[in-house]
Amino acid sequence: MKKVALITGGSRGIGAATSMRLSKDGYSLAINYVSDSHAADSLVETIILQGGHAIAVQADISVEAEVLALFNAIDVALDGLDLLVNNAGVLATQMPVVSMTAERINRVMATNVTGTFLCCREAIKRMSTNYGGRGGVIINVSSAAARLGSAGEYVDYAASKGAIDTLTTGLAAEVADQGIRVNAVRPGLIYTEMHSKGGEPGRVDRLSQLVPMKRGGQPEEVAAAIAWLASDESSYSTGAFIEVSGGR
Ligand code: NAP
Repeated sequence: MKKVALITGGSRGIGAATSMRLSKDGYSLAINYVSDSHAADSLVETIILQGGHAIAVQADISVEAEVLALFNAIDVALDGLDLLVNNAGVLATQMPVVSMTAERINRVMATNVTGTFLCCREAIKRMSTNYGGRGGVIINVSSAAARLGSAGEYVDYAASKGAIDTLTTGLAAEVADQGIRVNAVRPGLIYTEMHSKGGEPGRVDRLSQLVPMKRGGQPEEVAAAIAWLASDESSYSTGAFIEVSGGR
């Protein structure tokens, strides 16, 4: 029987590379997205053509009712839940803190922090041995920004990833005796479309010389770390962080 994985924001960028990798590793996938149904549907089509099994599920993870609907859709269509990859994340236009509105900060926090908490909550209800589940794995996609702070660009985003790191540490200890491991990856500068949302599509190339390895990373390199944390190869790791950032 195939293990079941939910990848939030699994339709593009790091999430899409993770979906492809986990499909190759034998998982049945629920690929969540918020608005770009074309990207999600074509990824599902590719996975099915390659012999995998996947469904696309639209839901805005910052909205509690939509998170409930997302997990209900998985309950109906798939066989339980073994792996949650909390990958969905957003940032806003580059600006200093002095210019940020409450609306902007709340929008970033609602997706990156509240949405991730809600997905963890629903996954625990399904995975925890306390709730009759078969155990599972949660992997949070944090960011090197949690360490670096993103000064002048998006300190709100960096702070949201700091919250994800603390969530990872606390939740890992909270559910360790319920059969659930909780770990995180901290990607650095990765070639995805997210940087355009900040207003600078060429950001990875501009900053790559600050990276000791002198290059940006590929989404597949993050997916490989996620795949290891998902696997039994990491069976004694919980509350752990893998830097995927070229040494920065
Ligand atoms: P991306 O290319 O912009 O893709 C974002 C994905 O998240 C899309 O599938 C998008 O769906 C989905 N999404 C956005 N808001 C959502 C919401 N409210 N509910 C559900 N899904 C939502 O981003 P990425 O660069 O791959 O980033 C993925 C994760 O890695 C994020 O958590 C990000 O913070 C983190 N990260 C990225 C980098 C980097 O350099 N790229 C570095 C460090 C950490 P639609 O397609 O429908 O919009």
